[in-house]
Amino acid sequence: MTTEYERMLDQALRLRDRAPGGRYAPSPSGPLHLGNARTALLAWLQARLAGGRFVMRMEDLDRPRMRPGCAAQIIDDLRWMGLDWDEGPDVGGKTGPYEQSARDSIYAAALSRLQDAHTIFPCFCSRKDIQQAASAPHGSDGPIYPGTCREQELAFGKNGRRSATLRYRVGAGRIEVKDVVTDSIIQDLSHDVGDFVVRRSDGVFAYQFAVVIDDALMGVTDVVRGVDLRESTPRQLALLSALDLPAPHYWHVPLMTDDNGNRMSKRDGSESVGMFRTRGGKPAELVGQLAASVGLCPLETPVSAQELLSAHDLCSFTCALRDTGTHK
Ligand code: GLU
Repeated sequence: MTTEYERMLDQALRLRDRAPGGRYAPSPSGPLHLGNARTALLAWLQARLAGGRFVMRMEDLDRPRMRPGCAAQIIDDLRWMGLDWDEGPDVGGKTGPYEQSARDSIYAAALSRLQDAHTIFPCFCSRKDIQQAASAPHGSDGPIYPGTCREQELAFGKNGRRSATLRYRVGAGRIEVKDVVTDSIIQDLSHDVGDFVVRRSDGVFAYQFAVVIDDALMGVTDVVRGVDLRESTPRQLALLSALDLPAPHYWHVPLMTDDNGNRMSKRDGSESVGMFRTRGGKPAELVGQLAASVGLCPLETPVSAQELLSAHDLCSFTCALRDTGTHK
């Protein structure tokens, strides 16, 4: 009997064969700042210039961190900028649901495949245990897991201790991921990252895991996102391969900085699209400003998202991104 997971995978493979697919995947934990808006614009342009579908997905896994009303505001801001999408929380579509918080059963189905293949194990270490045990070499995401629980049998939560975190057992060897915009990303997960979390002890699936399942089951062929997520890509590629899912092309685009050269962030109250709108700014002014900052139009002339689309092809778009110079 075909499971729901298999049906979704089959559908996604057919979608991929038919047309490219792009997506924007904001976390509704704060207002959309101008840096987020630029990444969204670039993801949309890439998908449309490639003649592909564009999907909007809310990454609201970590429920306590999400702010009420934020998802609706992000959608409103993106529409105000002139972006559109074929599938998303507000328009539906056949690869949904489009909120990660509603996709637990899909993640559970993927997880059980890893479980069957013995590629995950329960870990009972606290953060402190890991910090103390690892005469802690640090990777890009904190201390590298020292392998304490690696040999645990899969007796999930049954041994009366705190509930288990589930970790993916990484293999040794170099993983190289090609990037359309930046240099290749090369990591040896066993050395640079360690066995990483796929589900937290409170039952929340990790970003690294959910994003891989979602992109694959939504037929995403091209992932355009901020360069801050570049280091995650080898972990995501390892999961894709363990689950026998197709890998997308990665486009890691520069992060926008404010006037003082600092990276924009939701927490630091960086200028948001909402603030820009409140000041009376027009969509074409914002789009022009964002496009100029990555060399897609001269200076800061107002331009609509549609005009930007007509002014470029995939080749000129890619060259502009590569030339922006924040190559890491
Ligand atoms: N949800 C992530 C963010 O808002 C983006 C994840 C991704 O694009 O892979 O930063």
